[in-house]
Amino acid sequence: MLNFELYNPTNYIFGKGQIEKLSKLVPKNAKILLAYGGGSIFKNGIHEQVIKNLQGFDIIEFGGIEPNPRFETLMTAVEIVRKEKITFILAVGGGSVIDGVKFISGATNFEGNPIDILKNKVLFTDLSKVISFGTVLTLPATGSEMNSGAVVTIEATQEKLVLGGSALFPKFSICDPTVIASLPKRQLENGVVDAFTHVMEQYLTYPHDAILQDRIAESILQTLVEIGPNVVENPTDYKLASNFMWCATMALNGLIQKGVPSDWATHMIGHELTALYEIDHARTLAVIAPSLYKVMFETKKDKLAQYGERIFNVSGDSIEEKAEKAIEKTIEFLHKMGMQTKLSEYTEDYKKSADFIVNRFETRGWKALGEKQNITLQRVKEIVEGSY
Ligand code: NAP
Ligand code: FE
Repeated sequence: MLNFELYNPTNYIFGKGQIEKLSKLVPKNAKILLAYGGGSIFKNGIHEQVIKNLQGFDIIEFGGIEPNPRFETLMTAVEIVRKEKITFILAVGGGSVIDGVKFISGATNFEGNPIDILKNKVLFTDLSKVISFGTVLTLPATGSEMNSGAVVTIEATQEKLVLGGSALFPKFSICDPTVIASLPKRQLENGVVDAFTHVMEQYLTYPHDAILQDRIAESILQTLVEIGPNVVENPTDYKLASNFMWCATMALNGLIQKGVPSDWATHMIGHELTALYEIDHARTLAVIAPSLYKVMFETKKDKLAQYGERIFNVSGDSIEEKAEKAIEKTIEFLHKMGMQTKLSEYTEDYKKSADFIVNRFETRGWKALGEKQNITLQRVKEIVEGSY
């Protein structure tokens, strides 16, 4: 096993009705910025619940954080936080709102050009320099409610970039599985596939000696395969909803990443497809992952075979046969989850994407990705072309 440090200070508060604890979780006398997205929280009653449980606090609202939150929008919020001397931010929403709030939290006291937070991957490690924040999760998918990373899009240059650091963990996250009842089918499908792919990024590398980590990762994958299609059809079923929500958090709260190598190339390439074509995050992953497993077959075949045997009960005479079947089973699962797995199914303009992405990675100085740093730019090109 690789050496590791496990640090996760988020107070994770799970279950029905937990929102009633909100007023005790927010610091006394806080001046709050209540941040949300496009307005779903008004339709499903979550806004009302939040306000009811924050009586007596001084609150300023900031709505309009878009899916794949925009740097430009978030900078408007940063101005408000500075001007109004906000001391605490409450993110009420899915990954986009929570990620947006992480950016606002770090950018408010950032000395320098805030675009560098994204372009130069600034790490926020000093708690005294960020605005503390909590979350009320409305969409299980990203794990952002219990991690310290975020993804923000710069509209002007169509770039989707990451930020983070140990100071950007939420202070608390209220995770009530009943919130998923109002999610459109498409978002439920996205949530399952994003969480599934998060596990794959940290699991599907090469065989190593972190036996427990493999078993934990496999248990999340297996649970998502078991409940994924059902939760989409029955989001009011509490058993399904609660297991789904916990899987999504466990997939990316840092635990399964400890002591093991990780890949993340599917995400890095997928982000570019969202920036280019505005395809939903999870759907870009479903397009890229199968192609990546095929292009990186030699590197990943041993782990693919293990995954195929343990998650999908595949059998075969050789590692290669089992690994190939595992890829087929993965594609089947993605289709069952309502995903398309070819880029050409989303846009007619797909042919420019491989060169575009390779150029972009080159400009950023990215030479190779993946757990072995052997996903060279040539392979990135093959992976994107393989997804057409
Ligand atoms: P999202 O972009 O936060 O939300 C998608 C849509 O779902 C929005 O239109 C939102 O509407 C709606 N919605 C949310 N909750 C709802 C509810 N309970 N009922 C009805 N509609 C609801 O989706 P997401 O998948 O959670 O986040 C995606 C973003 O997270 C991407 O930018 C992705 O790159 C990023 N990401 C972050 C991490 C991380 O670790 N930080 C990991 C993976 C991905 P409203 O706007 O109206 O609320
Ligand atoms: Fe993701």
